[in-house]
Amino acid sequence: MRQAVLMAPGQIEFREVPAPSAENLAPHEVLLNIKRIGICGSEIHSYHGKHPSTIYPVVQGHEYSAIVTAVGSAVTVCRPGDAVTARPQLVCGSCNPCKRGQYNVCENLRVQAFHADGAARDFFVVDDDRVVKLPDGMSLDFGAMVEPSAVGAHSTKRAGDLKGKNVVVSGAGTIGNLVAQFALYRGAAKVLITDISDQRLDIARKCGIEHTLNVLQTPLEEGVKDVFGEEGFQVGFEVAGVESSIRSLMQTIEKGSTIVVIAVFEKDPALSMYYLGEHELTLVGTLMYRHEDYQEAINAISSGKINLNPLITNRFPFEQFDDAYNFIDANRMSSLKVIIDLTE
Ligand SMILES: [Zn+2]
Ligand SMILES: [Zn+2]
Repeated sequence: MRQAVLMAPGQIEFREVPAPSAENLAPHEVLLNIKRIGICGSEIHSYHGKHPSTIYPVVQGHEYSAIVTAVGSAVTVCRPGDAVTARPQLVCGSCNPCKRGQYNVCENLRVQAFHADGAARDFFVVDDDRVVKLPDGMSLDFGAMVEPSAVGAHSTKRAGDLKGKNVVVSGAGTIGNLVAQFALYRGAAKVLITDISDQRLDIARKCGIEHTLNVLQTPLEEGVKDVFGEEGFQVGFEVAGVESSIRSLMQTIEKGSTIVVIAVFEKDPALSMYYLGEHELTLVGTLMYRHEDYQEAINAISSGKINLNPLITNRFPFEQFDDAYNFIDANRMSSLKVIIDLTE
């Protein structure tokens, strides 16, 4: 079978390796035939040697959809022929966060595609507790986008009840877009999404996020007044990962409000803790998702309430993995989700 290995930053090696055999599956293992892989922002960082914890060489790919080829004797979640996706989290099950059910922040968390090998290959063996079946009729493209959608599902729960609240999402890349869509899904009154790229904001509007603001042209404070008027906003999501973004969120949000930090900051921002205290703001962290977030993401996508089509901007065959990265580099502002199609 084919396998793509990121040997070192910027260096993908294609290999022909033996496929795992169905006979050797452990009772709870599932053999997947990988069909689609979505390229993720974090993997772009790994490709450029800027992801702090990537262990090279590594097989990338953690957003994927697949068809089940074979299952171990104890597997009940899926059968051969089913379309599925699976969480890329390898957790210990015995640390305190795991015992509390917060395995997304397992003390020994390893994420496939960064700390362990991922799905950039024709066949892949995963444990059944991470597998989720795709509903009939869901496309394999959408199946590969359950992972980023689950980030939207989980992070929006971290803000508490969003019903009737006004929300600002700073950053309109794939994750910011999905966070904004999930905020609306959870009953937020109005959602304003901001970015410095008109193309991304255009895609946000195509996804049904009505209020958009280019903060290069109009300061956040002004945009917030235009959209929310006297109501202000009560929840912010920081998805841009730059100091100016979280700073203006803090300065514009209503006193007593909550900001969820989703972005990975390359450089730590210098923020005023005095201001944070005076305004009684709550800053909340969030990491990945849990199994129920995958399930909720699938339900939201298949109900049509999360619109993924405008997010898929480009696709490449497996052999052109490098070209996909080069394309993303050359089209930073206009490329959102790039899909690798293993069947092409
Ligand atoms: Zn991802
Ligand atoms: Zn653990």
